[in-house]
Amino acid sequence: MKKETQAIHATNLVDETAGAIATPIFLSTTFLRDEDGSYPKGHMYSRNSNPNRDALENGLAILEGGAKAFAFASGLAAVSAVFQCLKSGDHVLMPSVGYYASMKLADEIMGPWGLQMSQVNMEDLDAIRAAIQPNTKLIWVETPANPLLGISDIQAISTLAHSLGIFVGVDNTIATPILQNPISLGADIVMHATTKYIGGHSDVLGGAIIVRDDEWSARLKRVQILMGATQNPLDCYLLARGLKTLPLRMREHSASALALAQRLEKHSAIEQVHYPGLTSHPQHALAKHQMPHGFSGMISIQVKGDEANARRVASELKLFQQATSLGGVESLVEHRRSIEGPDSKTPGNLLRLSIGLEHVDDLWEDLNSSLMPKKL
Ligand SMILES: *Cc1c(COP(=O)(O)O)cnc(C)c1O
Repeated sequence: MKKETQAIHATNLVDETAGAIATPIFLSTTFLRDEDGSYPKGHMYSRNSNPNRDALENGLAILEGGAKAFAFASGLAAVSAVFQCLKSGDHVLMPSVGYYASMKLADEIMGPWGLQMSQVNMEDLDAIRAAIQPNTKLIWVETPANPLLGISDIQAISTLAHSLGIFVGVDNTIATPILQNPISLGADIVMHATTKYIGGHSDVLGGAIIVRDDEWSARLKRVQILMGATQNPLDCYLLARGLKTLPLRMREHSASALALAQRLEKHSAIEQVHYPGLTSHPQHALAKHQMPHGFSGMISIQVKGDEANARRVASELKLFQQATSLGGVESLVEHRRSIEGPDSKTPGNLLRLSIGLEHVDDLWEDLNSSLMPKKL
């Protein structure tokens, strides 16, 4: 079946009580035991499993082509769960450009915890080869990567890693399971901040891990149950609902973003546009290979002039609301450097745009009029 069909049907439960078509929400923390002590419906206690989490995890595993999926309370709880599957003394190779808080988690929490963390340019295979150590257990890839939307070669990194017995995890948040499936390209682990496109309406915080095989599946299940950062049934319901329209939404996010990126590239107030769908993007060919169905809805622009001018543009935009996060139906603009703080490596004139589902012509009009400095 095609993804549009899977997204709708793989997330459904059969409701034996009322025959409801929409999946009911099971808030119960605990489940009935049989006389012989068994659990007839397969659920014991909601931290271990519950029907709504099962429905969401089932849909995610099918859409990513993995053996099993695990839902967590946030994207960062999901990344943490992968690190928690490793042992003190193991080395993890992180990308030098990527989601800011993932890097902070690695350095501030997992480093002191006993994992050895180092960073490398994930777009450079020779640099990755050189950075691998005898105790390297995991290479963490983010592609497209925050905030410059650089592309890493999942297939090449996986081939290299597997030849040395190293696992590969991919933060697939920006691409979503609709546009890119890292497991089919060789990765062992896929991570999503479901907070973003999968939820799609800026009203749920969540994370997920999808794994290729049963070995990782068993490890993650123990971490999910014992570290306990699981996702509650109501949020699982909302995310499963989001998954149903994800293929349609990603088509529209991608089409609008490509059209806007092409127009922005020709705008006189723009210094540079970063969008993997542009032929001017340095890794466009690789992006097209890994993301054959679209390039998602994130664009970063570098505005001519200084940081103050970039912040002026962000504050003058009307449809693009100034807020962090991405992947919702509403367009957002973010001045990344001022959010990341003093040690940010992001250029001061860079604005990150999350292209929502408003009409592309209205979005263009907003961008076009705010980019031009106002003459008094
Ligand atoms: C938002 C995000 C995360 C973290 O997810 P939270 O739900 O905020 O914890 C991780 N990676 C990427 C690429 C993200 O955009």
